[in-house]
Amino acid sequence: MTASAGSSGFIEVKRRGLMLVLSSPSGAGKTTISRKLLGLEPNLTMSVSATTRPKRPGETAGTDYHFVDPTEFGLMINRNEFLEHAKVFDNYYGTPKAPVFEALRGGRDVLFDIDWQGTQQVAQNARDDLVSVFILPPSTRELEQRLKSRAQDSAEVVAGRMAKAADEMSHWAEYDYIVVNHNIEESVTQVRAILTAERLKRQRQVGLPEFVKGLREGQ
Ligand code: 5GP
Repeated sequence: MTASAGSSGFIEVKRRGLMLVLSSPSGAGKTTISRKLLGLEPNLTMSVSATTRPKRPGETAGTDYHFVDPTEFGLMINRNEFLEHAKVFDNYYGTPKAPVFEALRGGRDVLFDIDWQGTQQVAQNARDDLVSVFILPPSTRELEQRLKSRAQDSAEVVAGRMAKAADEMSHWAEYDYIVVNHNIEESVTQVRAILTAERLKRQRQVGLPEFVKGLREGQ
Protein backbone atom coordinates (compact mmCIF):
# COMPACT_ATOMS: atom_id res chain seq x y z
CA MET A 1 0.00 0.00 0.00
CA THR A 2 1.28 3.47 -0.83
CA ALA A 3 0.47 7.08 -0.05
CA SER A 4 -1.91 8.58 -2.58
CA ALA A 5 -3.39 11.94 -3.39
CA GLY A 6 -6.89 12.13 -1.90
CA SER A 7 -9.87 13.92 -3.44
CA SER A 8 -8.69 17.13 -1.78
CA GLY A 9 -5.35 16.81 -3.56
CA PHE A 10 -3.59 16.24 -0.24
CA ILE A 11 -1.41 13.23 0.24
CA GLU A 12 -3.17 10.70 2.47
CA VAL A 13 -1.36 8.57 4.98
CA LYS A 14 -2.41 4.95 4.74
CA ARG A 15 -1.62 2.06 6.97
CA ARG A 16 -0.68 -1.58 6.70
CA GLY A 17 -3.16 -3.90 8.34
CA LEU A 18 -2.08 -5.56 11.58
CA MET A 19 -2.58 -9.01 13.04
CA LEU A 20 -4.25 -8.91 16.44
CA VAL A 21 -3.81 -12.22 18.24
CA LEU A 22 -5.89 -13.10 21.29
CA SER A 23 -4.83 -16.15 23.26
CA SER A 24 -6.07 -17.51 26.56
CA PRO A 25 -6.88 -20.76 28.27
CA SER A 26 -10.24 -22.12 27.20
CA GLY A 27 -13.01 -20.40 29.20
CA ALA A 28 -11.25 -17.10 29.97
CA GLY A 29 -13.75 -15.17 27.85
CA LYS A 30 -11.75 -14.77 24.66
CA THR A 31 -14.56 -15.76 22.29
CA THR A 32 -17.01 -13.26 23.81
CA ILE A 33 -14.39 -10.50 23.74
CA SER A 34 -13.63 -11.31 20.08
CA ARG A 35 -17.30 -11.18 19.06
CA LYS A 36 -17.88 -7.85 20.76
CA LEU A 37 -14.71 -6.39 19.30
CA LEU A 38 -15.72 -7.45 15.79
CA GLY A 39 -19.11 -5.78 16.27
CA LEU A 40 -17.44 -2.52 17.27
CA GLU A 41 -14.57 -2.45 14.79
CA PRO A 42 -15.68 -2.54 11.14
CA ASN A 43 -12.09 -2.61 9.87
CA LEU A 44 -11.37 -5.80 11.80
CA THR A 45 -12.01 -9.21 10.24
CA MET A 46 -11.81 -12.59 11.94
CA SER A 47 -9.40 -15.20 10.67
CA VAL A 48 -11.37 -18.44 10.31
CA SER A 49 -9.16 -21.39 11.23
CA ALA A 50 -9.33 -24.91 9.88
CA THR A 51 -9.70 -27.66 12.48
CA THR A 52 -10.03 -31.41 12.66
CA ARG A 53 -12.14 -31.25 15.82
CA PRO A 54 -15.88 -32.01 15.57
CA LYS A 55 -18.33 -29.14 15.26
CA ARG A 56 -19.97 -28.13 18.56
CA PRO A 57 -23.68 -27.33 18.88
CA GLY A 58 -24.29 -23.76 17.76
CA GLU A 59 -21.17 -23.56 15.60
CA THR A 60 -21.40 -22.78 11.90
CA ALA A 61 -19.00 -24.25 9.34
CA GLY A 62 -17.11 -21.53 7.49
CA THR A 63 -17.88 -18.94 10.18
CA ASP A 64 -16.55 -20.46 13.41
CA TYR A 65 -14.15 -22.88 11.75
CA HIS A 66 -13.56 -24.70 8.50
CA PHE A 67 -14.19 -28.24 9.70
CA VAL A 68 -11.92 -30.61 7.81
CA ASP A 69 -10.84 -34.21 8.24
CA PRO A 70 -7.23 -35.10 9.12
CA THR A 71 -6.48 -36.09 5.51
CA GLU A 72 -7.59 -32.70 4.19
CA PHE A 73 -5.67 -30.96 7.00
CA GLY A 74 -2.53 -32.86 5.98
CA LEU A 75 -3.02 -31.83 2.35
CA MET A 76 -3.38 -28.21 3.42
CA ILE A 77 -0.05 -28.47 5.26
CA ASN A 78 1.61 -30.03 2.20
CA ARG A 79 0.22 -27.29 -0.05
CA ASN A 80 1.76 -24.73 2.34
CA GLU A 81 -1.64 -23.13 2.88
CA PHE A 82 -1.18 -22.35 6.57
CA LEU A 83 0.32 -19.27 8.16
CA GLU A 84 0.70 -21.44 11.27
CA HIS A 85 -0.69 -24.72 12.50
CA ALA A 86 -0.55 -26.69 15.74
CA LYS A 87 -1.96 -29.63 17.64
CA VAL A 88 -4.13 -28.41 20.53
CA PHE A 89 -6.03 -30.84 22.80
CA ASP A 90 -5.59 -33.80 20.44
CA ASN A 91 -6.95 -31.91 17.43
CA TYR A 92 -5.23 -29.97 14.70
CA TYR A 93 -5.83 -26.28 14.11
CA GLY A 94 -4.40 -24.02 11.43
CA THR A 95 -4.73 -20.51 10.03
CA PRO A 96 -5.24 -20.38 6.25
CA LYS A 97 -2.83 -17.71 5.03
CA ALA A 98 -4.45 -16.47 1.78
CA PRO A 99 -7.41 -14.60 3.37
CA VAL A 100 -5.09 -13.06 5.97
CA PHE A 101 -2.64 -11.66 3.43
CA GLU A 102 -5.48 -10.40 1.24
CA ALA A 103 -6.99 -8.50 4.20
CA LEU A 104 -3.63 -7.05 5.28
CA ARG A 105 -2.87 -5.89 1.74
CA GLY A 106 -6.23 -4.14 1.71
CA GLY A 107 -5.34 -2.26 4.92
CA ARG A 108 -7.72 -4.31 7.05
CA ASP A 109 -6.78 -5.67 10.46
CA VAL A 110 -7.18 -9.37 11.21
CA LEU A 111 -8.20 -10.89 14.53
CA PHE A 112 -6.86 -14.34 15.45
CA ASP A 113 -8.06 -16.70 18.16
CA ILE A 114 -5.06 -19.02 18.27
CA ASP A 115 -2.97 -20.66 20.98
CA TRP A 116 0.59 -19.88 22.12
CA GLN A 117 2.13 -22.30 19.62
CA GLY A 118 0.45 -20.52 16.72
CA THR A 119 1.40 -17.12 18.15
CA GLN A 120 5.06 -18.17 18.31
CA GLN A 121 4.96 -19.20 14.64
CA VAL A 122 3.32 -15.94 13.56
CA ALA A 123 5.94 -14.06 15.59
CA GLN A 124 8.68 -15.87 13.66
CA ASN A 125 7.13 -15.18 10.26
CA ALA A 126 5.57 -11.74 10.61
CA ARG A 127 6.72 -10.06 13.86
CA ASP A 128 6.28 -6.50 12.55
CA ASP A 129 2.59 -6.99 11.84
CA LEU A 130 1.80 -8.92 15.02
CA VAL A 131 0.13 -7.50 18.13
CA SER A 132 -0.40 -10.24 20.71
CA VAL A 133 -2.71 -10.12 23.72
CA PHE A 134 -3.00 -12.79 26.39
CA ILE A 135 -6.28 -12.91 28.28
CA LEU A 136 -6.19 -14.29 31.82
CA PRO A 137 -9.16 -15.34 33.92
CA PRO A 138 -9.51 -13.49 37.26
CA SER A 139 -9.08 -16.74 39.20
CA THR A 140 -8.88 -20.53 38.78
CA ARG A 141 -12.26 -20.84 40.46
CA GLU A 142 -13.85 -18.46 37.99
CA LEU A 143 -12.24 -20.29 35.08
CA GLU A 144 -13.67 -23.61 36.26
CA GLN A 145 -17.14 -22.08 36.70
CA ARG A 146 -17.08 -20.66 33.18
CA LEU A 147 -16.02 -23.98 31.68
CA LYS A 148 -18.77 -25.83 33.56
CA SER A 149 -21.50 -23.33 32.74
CA ARG A 150 -20.74 -23.57 29.02
CA ALA A 151 -21.92 -27.18 29.21
CA GLN A 152 -20.85 -27.77 25.64
CA ASP A 153 -18.14 -30.19 26.54
CA SER A 154 -18.26 -33.37 28.60
CA ALA A 155 -17.00 -33.35 32.21
CA GLU A 156 -13.96 -35.25 31.01
CA VAL A 157 -13.15 -32.58 28.42
CA VAL A 158 -13.64 -29.82 31.03
CA ALA A 159 -11.26 -31.58 33.43
CA GLY A 160 -8.73 -31.98 30.64
CA ARG A 161 -8.92 -28.32 29.74
CA MET A 162 -8.56 -27.23 33.36
CA ALA A 163 -5.39 -29.29 33.56
CA LYS A 164 -4.10 -27.71 30.35
CA ALA A 165 -5.08 -24.16 31.34
CA ALA A 166 -2.10 -24.00 33.68
CA ASP A 167 0.19 -25.00 30.80
CA GLU A 168 -1.34 -22.47 28.44
CA MET A 169 -1.06 -19.69 31.05
CA SER A 170 2.65 -20.38 31.51
CA HIS A 171 3.16 -18.63 28.15
CA TRP A 172 1.77 -15.26 29.24
CA ALA A 173 5.22 -13.62 29.16
CA GLU A 174 5.58 -14.21 25.41
CA TYR A 175 2.76 -11.75 24.70
CA ASP A 176 2.86 -7.98 24.10
CA TYR A 177 -0.15 -7.22 26.33
CA ILE A 178 -1.97 -8.91 29.23
CA VAL A 179 -5.67 -8.39 29.95
CA VAL A 180 -7.21 -9.90 33.09
CA ASN A 181 -10.84 -10.52 32.23
CA HIS A 182 -12.67 -9.39 35.41
CA ASN A 183 -15.48 -7.95 33.33
CA ILE A 184 -16.23 -8.44 29.63
CA GLU A 185 -17.06 -4.79 28.84
CA GLU A 186 -13.90 -3.56 30.56
CA SER A 187 -11.79 -6.14 28.74
CA VAL A 188 -13.30 -5.15 25.39
CA THR A 189 -12.48 -1.50 26.14
CA GLN A 190 -8.91 -2.47 27.01
CA VAL A 191 -8.38 -4.55 23.87
CA ARG A 192 -9.87 -1.71 21.78
CA ALA A 193 -7.42 0.71 23.40
CA ILE A 194 -4.54 -1.60 22.45
CA LEU A 195 -5.84 -1.80 18.88
CA THR A 196 -6.25 1.97 18.60
CA ALA A 197 -2.74 2.67 19.88
CA GLU A 198 -1.16 -0.02 17.70
CA ARG A 199 -2.91 1.35 14.60
CA LEU A 200 -1.27 4.72 15.24
CA LYS A 201 2.27 3.35 15.51
CA ARG A 202 4.63 5.27 13.29
CA GLN A 203 6.02 2.10 11.65
CA ARG A 204 2.58 1.11 10.36
CA GLN A 205 1.96 4.35 8.51
CA VAL A 206 2.73 4.31 4.81
CA GLY A 207 3.55 7.59 3.06
CA LEU A 208 4.41 9.58 6.18
CA PRO A 209 7.56 11.23 4.75
CA GLU A 210 5.57 12.56 1.77
CA PHE A 211 2.73 13.64 4.04
CA VAL A 212 5.00 15.57 6.42
CA LYS A 213 6.94 17.04 3.46
CA GLY A 214 3.63 18.30 2.09
CA LEU A 215 2.70 19.78 5.46
CA ARG A 216 6.06 21.51 5.76
CA GLU A 217 5.75 22.92 2.27
CA GLY A 218 2.34 24.29 3.13
CA GLN A 219 0.30 21.99 0.86
P1 5GP B 1 -11.65 -24.62 20.57
O1 5GP B 1 -11.60 -26.04 20.11
O2 5GP B 1 -12.12 -24.46 21.97
O3 5GP B 1 -12.41 -23.74 19.60
O4 5GP B 1 -10.15 -24.07 20.55
C1 5GP B 1 -9.16 -24.71 21.31
C2 5GP B 1 -7.89 -23.91 21.25
O5 5GP B 1 -7.36 -23.92 19.92
C3 5GP B 1 -8.06 -22.44 21.63
O6 5GP B 1 -7.02 -22.11 22.56
C4 5GP B 1 -7.83 -21.69 20.35
O7 5GP B 1 -7.22 -20.45 20.57
C5 5GP B 1 -6.91 -22.62 19.60
N1 5GP B 1 -6.99 -22.42 18.14
C6 5GP B 1 -8.09 -22.20 17.39
N2 5GP B 1 -7.77 -22.04 16.10
C7 5GP B 1 -6.42 -22.14 16.04
C8 5GP B 1 -5.48 -22.05 14.96
O8 5GP B 1 -5.79 -21.83 13.79
N3 5GP B 1 -4.17 -22.21 15.30
C9 5GP B 1 -3.75 -22.45 16.58
N4 5GP B 1 -2.45 -22.57 16.78
N5 5GP B 1 -4.61 -22.54 17.60
C10 5GP B 1 -5.93 -22.39 17.33
